[in-house]
Amino acid sequence: MSYEPARADFGLPVRIDLYSDTHTRPSRAMKEAMLEAEMGDEQGGSDPTVWELCDRTAALLGKEAAMFMPSGTMCNQVAIATHCRPGDEILAHEDAHIQSSEAGGPGAISGVMIRGLAGERGIFSAKTLLGAVRPVSRYSPPQRLVEVEQTANKGGGACWTVDELRAVADVAHAHGMKVHMDGARVLNAAVALRVAASDVTASCDTVWVDFTKGLGAPLGAVLAGPRDFIGEAWRWKQRLGGSMRQGGMNAAACIYALEHNIDRLADDHRNAAALAQGMAQIPGITVETPETNLVFFDTTGTGLTAAEFASRLRPLGVTVSVSEAYRGRACTHLDVDAGQIEEAVAIMRRVVGG
Ligand SMILES: *Cc1c(COP(=O)(O)O)cnc(C)c1O
Repeated sequence: MSYEPARADFGLPVRIDLYSDTHTRPSRAMKEAMLEAEMGDEQGGSDPTVWELCDRTAALLGKEAAMFMPSGTMCNQVAIATHCRPGDEILAHEDAHIQSSEAGGPGAISGVMIRGLAGERGIFSAKTLLGAVRPVSRYSPPQRLVEVEQTANKGGGACWTVDELRAVADVAHAHGMKVHMDGARVLNAAVALRVAASDVTASCDTVWVDFTKGLGAPLGAVLAGPRDFIGEAWRWKQRLGGSMRQGGMNAAACIYALEHNIDRLADDHRNAAALAQGMAQIPGITVETPETNLVFFDTTGTGLTAAEFASRLRPLGVTVSVSEAYRGRACTHLDVDAGQIEEAVAIMRRVVGG
């Protein structure tokens, strides 16, 4: 078995890329900001642009300190390794990215177990969490960490409200657990909920934000939390090979994204709503009403699997991703505009023969 990704068919251009918000390309203005970046040695602490990104992101998320990393996956793994010891248990939604999509990292790297909790749209209640709290005993694994995903990716891009987060964090803290937020799309949530990002993250001890999703940077994520936590997390970053050299060039792209690409996430949410409405009119397709920029749909009524639907779209220049046999995902971002959404809907209608 080879796990190397298949090479794209470069002769078959993608015109409307709804596969993922990770597919955005850096704009010319973002690349110009990268060219102008002051740089130093990131792992030695002498890159001023990386420090600026960390300070600005820590302030945005309302945390004391922050650390720049190559990816969101590494932020999750470093955070888990720093919070936990081997044998500990993490409580997370059963569809959480750390469970399904990080190659078993929590087990392989940190030796922890994840207990999956149920809940609609990727969100579990304080009551469900409380029901999973074990009495402390010599027999049970130490319950160390509660993990929440904002927005809940497989939950359809659903947002935890500030109140839902506070209720869950209160239960966690009352039982000696910390709360870690996988904030891959935390800024989508802040924009959709119309609250400050620091209010969304207030009840979480640690949080990271991805710059390669809707924010449109080519690389990077920032993990934030208490200063002593970030201080310890640095050792795990070093251990996993995540320390960088002239990181300022990438940090400059992320700073550009902070300055230009947050408020416009509302456009992506409007485009997602329009896409969902358009797709819902296609015979045989049912659509989950989006809260942010992810539109999940079911192809059962068309007689096509989600993979068949996706492969009929591909030669026509449209991509979507496949989540389950009959469940697919279309994602809006800064490289798709309202006109392309209309065009994509028309093409989808055509491929199902509607
Ligand atoms: C994309 C994503 C990640 C991983 O981020 P990368 O930067 O791609 O490593 C983690 N969690 C969620 C919810 C995501 O959507």
